[in-house]
Amino acid sequence: EYPMICFNGGRPEADGTYTERTKIGMISVIIHEVGHNFFPMIINSDERQWTWMDEGLNTFVQYLTEKEFDRNYPTRRGSARDIRSYMGGDKSRISPIMTNSESIYQFGNNAYGKPATALNILRETVMGRELFDYAFKEYSRRWAFRHPSPADFFRTMEDASSVDLDWFWRGWFYTTDHVDMALDQVRWLQIDTQDPDVESAFDRAASENEPADVSLIRDASYITETYLEADPSLHDFYTTTDPFMVLELDKVESQERLGKMNTEEIALLQSGKNYYEITFRNKGGLVMPLIVEFELDNGEKLLHRIPAEIWKMSEPTVTKVFVTPTPAVRIALDPMLETADVDMSDNYWPARPEPSRFEIFKSESELRWGATRDENPMQRSQRSSELENVED
Ligand SMILES: [Zn+2]
Repeated sequence: EYPMICFNGGRPEADGTYTERTKIGMISVIIHEVGHNFFPMIINSDERQWTWMDEGLNTFVQYLTEKEFDRNYPTRRGSARDIRSYMGGDKSRISPIMTNSESIYQFGNNAYGKPATALNILRETVMGRELFDYAFKEYSRRWAFRHPSPADFFRTMEDASSVDLDWFWRGWFYTTDHVDMALDQVRWLQIDTQDPDVESAFDRAASENEPADVSLIRDASYITETYLEADPSLHDFYTTTDPFMVLELDKVESQERLGKMNTEEIALLQSGKNYYEITFRNKGGLVMPLIVEFELDNGEKLLHRIPAEIWKMSEPTVTKVFVTPTPAVRIALDPMLETADVDMSDNYWPARPEPSRFEIFKSESELRWGATRDENPMQRSQRSSELENVED
């Protein structure tokens, strides 16, 4: 394969212009084929048996190299968000990564894209860059000029980092499960302050926020006069007293209760903290860390990372309580799309509308920069500047 690099494309048009695809394709394939010097030629895995051990690892280092070339490099494979449509697709046409090379469905996604993405997720989300890079280099050092099998890769990544990754290898390399986590339920709780004035105002607001009853709305005009309105002598304590009124006695009793508490307990009552009891559902099968972002009403953002071990009992749901200093206006699960969650519509609280567009008229171009099959973006830009000159 890689000596064939000399036959790879990358030629411009006769007028000197070229498509982005031509340019990126040429640079990418050079980076890729040079990478094969290391995987599998030096770290000499068996290509015929395990395609992913050379193509997957090489696609991963290709990803890193492309980003060192250009921060905005349009890398095709390796980021979590780009693997979602493949992993969430028809499972009858998806093989586990740990499948012999002769028997793989969707060769490119299976042996290049998914393992490269898995390594990126280990690096960014599961292990962290420092531990991952150390372990990955250690694998390369240990197995240079030797013949590693998959178990050698899995074992070295674990013992060089001392991170237990069994769950990750099992899910990502031995199954066709995908990631689909959901915010199943969010319960927002605040502490009862034991202060009668505060609690009474809270109860009053809650009562006023109740939706109006349809019958009462219609009765407002339908019943022209009630007996109580017609005859004031029917009034008593219950019709004339504000049910949320705070009595002096309420305050005295509250002070007595507070008197029996220590300063820590009183501080907790007055902290104004918010408690969010969140139930997460694993819909896709793959267990992953929970990355939960709270956006508070003061604009501050809090990010919590819960390790994948929270799923260790393999329950379909897990529930955890988070504490925030002020109320949250938005909660997002995996806000940076780093777990390859295939359905983000159930990852937000409150639910987030996702606007999309449909075209009434069929568009000629779906390529970037408005290019078409007959005209590349450089040619189109030239034609456009000629148009501007005419208008001048
Ligand atoms: Zn390759």
